[in-house]
Amino acid sequence: MKLGKILKQIGEEMASREERGRVAGYIPELAAIDPHQFGMAVALADGRVLSVGDADEPFSIQSVSKVFTLALALGRYGNQLWRRVGREPSGRSFNSILQLEQENGIPRNPFINAGAIVVTDAILAGSTPREALATLMTFIRTATDDDTIYINDEVARSERETGHRNYSLAHYLRSCDNLLHQPDWTLGTYFHQCAVEMSCRQLARAGRFLINSSGMPQMISSMRVRRINALMMTCGHYDGSGDFAYRVGLPGKSGVGGGILVIVPGRASIAVWSPGLNNLGNSKLGTEAVEMLAQRTHWSVFG
Ligand code: GLN
Repeated sequence: MKLGKILKQIGEEMASREERGRVAGYIPELAAIDPHQFGMAVALADGRVLSVGDADEPFSIQSVSKVFTLALALGRYGNQLWRRVGREPSGRSFNSILQLEQENGIPRNPFINAGAIVVTDAILAGSTPREALATLMTFIRTATDDDTIYINDEVARSERETGHRNYSLAHYLRSCDNLLHQPDWTLGTYFHQCAVEMSCRQLARAGRFLINSSGMPQMISSMRVRRINALMMTCGHYDGSGDFAYRVGLPGKSGVGGGILVIVPGRASIAVWSPGLNNLGNSKLGTEAVEMLAQRTHWSVFG
């Protein structure tokens, strides 16, 4: 079956779903989002972008941004980065603090909040938050080939007002000498990266540098692309990473805004968005939709 037809079918099936999960409620900007939205876009290695549903509606990418900051930090520090953050799945929720104490302030991986805060702290070295964010936005805009992508300042402000858990993580990291800057400085940057808004079509295009295929934007070396994909597969969905790998069989990174970026190495970059979340904080319909897409296209890293 043609990909366009598969996407159309998935869009129709998702539109009829009544169980849509719960929209994130910790900040008013996310709590107010209509859960009935669903969009999906597939950017293929041949240059085509196919989409269905609300694929042009901007949403808060939240933790999907951790893929871009990791790419920047790996490009800048290479393997030195792994002195400050691990590469193991955590098996715990995205904002867990427990293992930080058990493991001397070295977060399990760069995709849980503690690890992402360390990565953001690393890319901040030698610059102001404004400069680091400008570098990040240049990276995202170049990868997407779209200068209109922006940060929603209202979302960033709300994240700061409600971010007590992230402050506790940052202070704990600092107490273990694993935060170079004052918590407010690093978190100010982190909250803004979470507040980047993109549509599925933009996010699918932004992910093309992770496909590792000629003709796609080359932002970092192909070796690092493979490694980021490995981390997305093992850690991209927190304590739901094993389930996502089992059901979808592709590397993915979720965000609490309901977006997921999924990579089909050598073939495609997929972005899906539906704001209702499952009990692990990952998009409910988004996961179901990529599971269907993977089944119907036979896309999988497992052959
Ligand atoms: N802004 C959220 C936080 O830091 C991002 C978490 C997520 O998307 N899982 O808590």
